[in-house]
Amino acid sequence: MSSRELTAGAELSSWLGQQRSLAEGRWLVTGAAGFIGSHLVEALLSAGAEVVGLDNFLTGRRETLDAAVKAVGPDAAKRFRFIEGDIRSLETCTSATEGVRWVLHQAALGSVPRSLENPIASHDVNVTGHLNVLHASRLAGVERFVYASSSSVYGDDANLPKLEERVGRVLSPYAATKRTNETYASVFASCYGQRITGLRYFNVFGPRQDPQGPYAAVIPRWLDAMASGGICTLHGDGLTSRDFCFVANVVKANLLAAQAQGERDTNEIFNVACGEKTTLRELYAHLRSAALSRGLVVAESPVGSPPRVGDIRHSQADIGAISRATGYQPLVFAEDGLVRTAHWYFDQRARGG
Ligand code: NAD
Repeated sequence: MSSRELTAGAELSSWLGQQRSLAEGRWLVTGAAGFIGSHLVEALLSAGAEVVGLDNFLTGRRETLDAAVKAVGPDAAKRFRFIEGDIRSLETCTSATEGVRWVLHQAALGSVPRSLENPIASHDVNVTGHLNVLHASRLAGVERFVYASSSSVYGDDANLPKLEERVGRVLSPYAATKRTNETYASVFASCYGQRITGLRYFNVFGPRQDPQGPYAAVIPRWLDAMASGGICTLHGDGLTSRDFCFVANVVKANLLAAQAQGERDTNEIFNVACGEKTTLRELYAHLRSAALSRGLVVAESPVGSPPRVGDIRHSQADIGAISRATGYQPLVFAEDGLVRTAHWYFDQRARGG
């Protein structure tokens, strides 16, 4: 077990220090070179586990994965095996799941706008790829298959907070792929008795989230703009709200979901968030005040632009179900996580990263 502090923070390091059973089997993390996958790899290696990572670098980056593996030190890094491969290939999924006890399936094409531009690509990766990993996991006798769903499956259901059993009409191809993942999970659990947990992530953020490209999420995009004197663009009136969730909480939720003891359903779906609500205006103010504290010059407000198609207006999770089933509680709440993430990005910039 490593005593280093994880990139996702001291709270996660100390929580992991109490989770002895993580080292008792091999893990597969798909999407290992992505933002969330890289934190899962780092956490598992630091907890003494053996980890297989699978990624084809479609949106993830080699440097992201290298940073995660480097963070745990050379001894822990020896327990990591990387497969450069595509989840659209069943053969690749079959070899990646060999001898694996727990699967944390993160690989997907994220972003609602991307799926509107190219729904076929999103379907291929998010649905066919998901089915391949799910199927291969069953054949390999994986103990529990945990996969990334999304708060986008709530669609046009306006009720707050979001309760797992109450979903509306989905509003984008991306959301349709995630809803389909949940349908396949439910079918595989009932037809084959496979143990599966879907985690509906709500706007995850933290170190190593990619700020580049047209589909980057708002937090890294704004932080990057603030650090480089660029323009922060706000879609809509700024009163849109989200349950922003620091990545340490998502790591904890995955590990608990894979391992929690006791009576569990074969097919579970849980929200993963903090149960809070932050508007985009508030988000901007938090990030801006971190930037000002570093002597950066940042406009008082972002530049407005029209709202985006497919976006939901408000999003806030009820996290009662996951806490009852697994004992999950957030480690870091939004405001604290935002300040840390901002400083992480500004430090990276200062180091020329
Ligand atoms: P990311 O883009 O950083 O990571 C996804 C990874 O999957 C990338 O490394 C990419 O290269 C890899 N990948 C894509 N297609 C692949 C393929 N065909 N074969 C192998 N690897 C492939 O995204 P992330 O933010 O880390 O998201 C991880 C998961 O969480 C995704 O399933 C995403 O839909 C889901 N999710 C994320 C958020 C969020 O706020 N970040 C919210 C809800 C759900």
